[in-house]
Amino acid sequence: MSQILHRSIAGGYPTAVSGEGVWLIDSDGKRYLDGSGGAAVSCLGHGHPDIRAAMHAQIDKLAYAHTSFFTSQPAEELAEHLIARAPNGLSHVFICSSGSEAVEACLKLARHYFVERGEPKRIQFISRRQSYHGITVGALSVGGRMKDRAPFKEMLLQGHHIAPCYAYRDQRADETLEQYGLRVADELEAKILELGPETVAAFVAETVVGATLGCVPPVPGYFKRIREICDRHGVLLILDEVMSGMGRTGTLHACEQEGIAPDLMAIAKGLGAGYVPIGAMLASSQIIAAVRQGSGAFPHSQTYNGHPLACATALAVQQVIERDDLLANVRRQGAHLERRLKERFGNHHHVGDVRGRGHFWGIELVADRASKTPFDPALKLHARVKQAAMAHGLMVYPMGGTADGNAGDHVLLAPPFIADAAIMDTLVERLGEAVDAAIAGAF
Ligand code: PMP
Repeated sequence: MSQILHRSIAGGYPTAVSGEGVWLIDSDGKRYLDGSGGAAVSCLGHGHPDIRAAMHAQIDKLAYAHTSFFTSQPAEELAEHLIARAPNGLSHVFICSSGSEAVEACLKLARHYFVERGEPKRIQFISRRQSYHGITVGALSVGGRMKDRAPFKEMLLQGHHIAPCYAYRDQRADETLEQYGLRVADELEAKILELGPETVAAFVAETVVGATLGCVPPVPGYFKRIREICDRHGVLLILDEVMSGMGRTGTLHACEQEGIAPDLMAIAKGLGAGYVPIGAMLASSQIIAAVRQGSGAFPHSQTYNGHPLACATALAVQQVIERDDLLANVRRQGAHLERRLKERFGNHHHVGDVRGRGHFWGIELVADRASKTPFDPALKLHARVKQAAMAHGLMVYPMGGTADGNAGDHVLLAPPFIADAAIMDTLVERLGEAVDAAIAGAF
């Protein structure tokens, strides 16, 4: 029995021993197509020779130097690379080891900024229901997956939630997609006014909702309106692109497709492609200027900030993505994946919605397609799909619906950027078999 504390104490997972491109191989030699990049992490696949070489080269020079004594060449080069390609106005990078830490850093720097500016009453954060921002206490406080929050409710920071942008379930028959987007964006303004603008520090949102809803992109105009509302009330906009960023949707940052830039942005997952644990916060020059003019310090640092091996690896990952023009592949093969998914599931009696962008797609499972009624959560259909997919040699990332019936079970796909059309075909074929087997097994 495993002594590792997994989310499920029972454990019982196969043992991964090696990886080759889009495949992971377990201790029995069984091969799994990594259709979800783990949790939208392994964007270059496994065992990439150039990344292995970069890791070896760095480890032969320097693995670690504490940032209170030294900076390092890999950290500086990675920061330069990221800022040169960052959304407008973002000028500085804080390099940590995970997505949760990147979100924590955003929350704390937002708060610190207002202290530095002499607006200490701004302590409240607004975010969206059915969102995920990480598992540490701050990140969980802004997260909107109520099931994860419930056992820790009393420990959390004050967090306020508005509706997600989730047209499949919430758009009214009498409104266009754009009208719907503006209506839900305006919930932010109502919430800011209710709380008092002078008390609100930031609004936090995933640009494309990942795990909790299964790849739900925003509708056109939504984030433009969100940006306007934040600006009107002096509220910072924090975008969580831990899952949807770093090329996953076909552009380096998902917000590029929305035509807006955040004040703070969290990235992780695809940054290091799973070769090292790494995350980062990108911060605007306006925020940095306020800190510079104020105390001159951001009192928030960790032992592994700017880890040289992690930074050299992430830099190599980003350089390979650029050198091999992999975002063009994401756009091309993403369109192929979309076509295949719609062919296979577009008329499936138990698939209500197929949505996504680039190499980031989700299908939502429903008991009844016409009424969009989710399956009974007690059936744990998502877990059954995962199990059936693993049996078919496929990794996908499923998540349960909500108990209030406002979201069904869904399955998230995030294949590596190197996947070709044949791999996408295999993915959809195996997923189809897994979904049908899971539904057949549930009744
Ligand atoms: N934000 C989002 C949008 C995520 O998807 C995740 C991870 N699933 C996190 C934050 C937290 O990242 P990590 O698990 O690396 O702490």
